[in-house]
Amino acid sequence: MVRLVSLIIFSLATILLATKSSLCHGKTTLNLVDHGITFSIFPLRLKSGLGGHYIPEISCSSWRLAVEAHNIIDWKTIPQECEGYVGNYVLGKQYREDSKAVTEEAYKYAQSLNLVGDGKDIWVFDIDETSLSNLPYYAQHGFGVEPFNETSFSEWADHGIAPPLPESRTLYKNLLNLGIKVVFLTGRSESLRDSTLKNLKDAGYNTFEALILRNSTEYNGKTGVTYKSSERKKLEEKGYRIVGNIGDQWSDILGTNTGNRTFKLPDPMYYIS
Ligand SMILES: [Mg+2]
Repeated sequence: MVRLVSLIIFSLATILLATKSSLCHGKTTLNLVDHGITFSIFPLRLKSGLGGHYIPEISCSSWRLAVEAHNIIDWKTIPQECEGYVGNYVLGKQYREDSKAVTEEAYKYAQSLNLVGDGKDIWVFDIDETSLSNLPYYAQHGFGVEPFNETSFSEWADHGIAPPLPESRTLYKNLLNLGIKVVFLTGRSESLRDSTLKNLKDAGYNTFEALILRNSTEYNGKTGVTYKSSERKKLEEKGYRIVGNIGDQWSDILGTNTGNRTFKLPDPMYYIS
């Protein structure tokens, strides 16, 4: 008799749960109790985009993830419909939080190192969208909707007024305090040396071992990966140990002589191979 009652109660509970399940379909979570364990089920239903309506932010978010994961490569401009999305991202809190997640992890790693202390431990910093932010420029050029224009960008860079990316500058200062030296390695042309030096100092980057800019004759027609790999190799040949390397482009951290650990900052505005 007791068994029969238990069976009836169990059956009723199952029916009730099934009813609840159908009622809750489309809501954020559904709790299912099985053998005393509670499982949260997340239906594969988007909170926005009801009724199959196209929501640009959703595909732009997927696009950004694919870009950051280096699944989408060699792109020339951001998708037209993502201009607002990318603009809101880079001007908003998420970009800063994403940057912070990277730089804090980099600092944790740096703190874990057993440094030799002979002044040869270096950290390679990229400049654009890593040490300095060109958002004032890109805000005037559609956040990457317009194809990259080297002449126009160089004119902006030559003013030497780009603000620092605050998270990178904090990392920079923390690394110096640990006794790690910093080398700036940038795809900017050698012709921008004076304005870049001034800009770095004005932005709070006062102490560094070297500033390496791209020699247009030596690297004419070469990719960023080739140029940066070659310059990092030269550093190692001089006896430096690259303990870390940070940049916003995959070409900053791919190739050879990349350093013991690499860190990729977000950049959904442009791609450099
Ligand atoms: Mg960069």
